Amino acid sequence: MEKTKVKKRIVLVPVPAQGHVTPMMQLGKALYLKGFSITVVQTQYNRVSSSKDFSDFQFITIPDSLPDSLINLGALQFLIKLNQTCEASFKHCLGQLLQEQGNDDAIACVVYDEYMYFSKAAVKEFQIPSVVFSTTNATAFVCRSFLAKVNADKFLIDMKDSEMQDKVFAGLHPLRYKDLPTSAFVPLESIIKIYTETVNIGTASAVIINSASCLESLSLARLQQELDVPVYPVGPLHIAATAPSSLLEEDRSCIEWLNKQKPSSVIYISLGSLGLMETKDVLEMAQGLKNSNQPFLWVIRPGSIPTSEWTESLPDEFSELVSERGYVVKWAPQMEVLRHSAVGGFWSHCGWNSTLESLGEGVPMICRPITGDQRVNARYVESVWRIGVQLEGELEKGTVESAVKSLLVDEEGDEMRKRAIDLKEKLKASARNGGSSCSSLEDFVNSLKMKTS
Ligand code: UDP
Repeated sequence: MEKTKVKKRIVLVPVPAQGHVTPMMQLGKALYLKGFSITVVQTQYNRVSSSKDFSDFQFITIPDSLPDSLINLGALQFLIKLNQTCEASFKHCLGQLLQEQGNDDAIACVVYDEYMYFSKAAVKEFQIPSVVFSTTNATAFVCRSFLAKVNADKFLIDMKDSEMQDKVFAGLHPLRYKDLPTSAFVPLESIIKIYTETVNIGTASAVIINSASCLESLSLARLQQELDVPVYPVGPLHIAATAPSSLLEEDRSCIEWLNKQKPSSVIYISLGSLGLMETKDVLEMAQGLKNSNQPFLWVIRPGSIPTSEWTESLPDEFSELVSERGYVVKWAPQMEVLRHSAVGGFWSHCGWNSTLESLGEGVPMICRPITGDQRVNARYVESVWRIGVQLEGELEKGTVESAVKSLLVDEEGDEMRKRAIDLKEKLKASARNGGSSCSSLEDFVNSLKMKTS
C-alpha cells in the first residue's frame, strides 16, 4: 500500500492588520498549493477566521496582552508595543510546536512579516530556518534601510526646509525628500527604531517580497545587493492565489450599484484599513466629486472620521452632495470592485495592496497618500509607471474635480489607462508559468525543499 506523503510545515506570522494579513494569507495559499502544510500563528487582536478557504490550515492564537486603547495608538506605535508583548508568547508557542512535531511534518521554516520582528529571537533560540516576508516593495525597503542609518538631527532640519522637500533624493530617483516613508504622526526616533528592526533580518535565510521585477527592477537589484541572502519577488500574490481574508464585512450591494453604471465611468474611493479623514476634507472631496459629474463609489470605514461612529457627525450638506451620483459603503469587496467594468479610476491612499490590486486590473489612480510607504507608491504611480495623478497639499474641491476629470474624461486619462492595461498584462505574465514571479516562487520552494529533504 502506498504511504500517505506527509507535508513539511511552514509557520506564518502575519501582522494583525488587513494590509498585512491579506498578502500573508495569499502567500500561505500559494505555498500550500506547492505542497506544504501551513500553520498561522496570530495575535488575539484582529484574528483571521479559519473559514472554508483555509480549512486545511492550522491556526494558533498567542496572547498579545494589549489593552484595547493601544489600538488607537497609530500603526507604528502599535507595532512597537506588539513586538514587546509578543516575544515571549511566540517563543512559548514555537517551543510547543517543536515538541509536538513528528519527523515528517517538521517545521521547514518560519515566514514572518518584516514588522513581526519579535520572531527573530525565537527562531534564533530554536535554530529554526526563517524567512522574512516584506508586504511592501523593494523601493520602500531600500528607503527604510536608508532611514535606519540616517542622522536624525540633520534629517529633521532638512525635512523642515520647504525647498529641500521638493528636491529629488540623490540615489533614489525619482523620489523626493517628501516621498520618503516618514510620518507626520510619529517621532522620527520611533520610525528609525522600527525601521532598524525591520531591515535587520537576523538569521533569516531569504526575503520574500510581494513585488515583481516589471515594476521595480532597479530597486530589486539594489535590495539584492544590500542583503546577503536571496530576495524572491513573488508578487502580486493576489494574482497567484485567492485567499479571501477580509477582517471586516464586505457590503456587496455596491456591486449591484456598479452593474447599473456605464463602463469606465465610476471613480472608486478607499483609503484602506487604517486611513483617517478630517470633516473638512470629506466635504471638499464630496463637493469636487459632485462637480465632476461622474458617479462615485466611496468607502467610508466606521471610525475613519474622528469623533464619529460612521458619517453621522457630518453636516447634512454631505448627504446632499453624495445623493445624486454617489454610493457610500462601510467596506467593499475591493478586488471585485476594481475588476468591474464600470470602474474607471481608483482614488487611493496608495497602500501597497491597493496599488497592486489597481495595477493588476489596469485601473488608473488618483493618489492621496497619508503616511509611510504610501508616498513612495504614489510617486511611482505618477512618475514611474505614469498611470495616475497625485493630489498634493490642501484638499480643495477644484483640484478634486479636475483630478477626477483627468482620469475619467480627458485624453490624459485614456493614455494612463493604456499604460495601466499594459502593466496589467505584464503582471499577469509574470505570475504565469515561466513568468518572473512564478519562477521566483518556484526557486524559493526548491531551495526550501533542498534544505529540508
Ligand atoms: N480593502 C477591502 N475593502 C475596502 C477597502 C480595502 O477589501 O473597502 C482591502 C484592499 O483590497 C487591500 C487592503 O484592504 O487588500 C488594504 O491594504 P493596503 O495595503 O492597500 O492599505 P492599508 O490598509 O494597509 O493601509
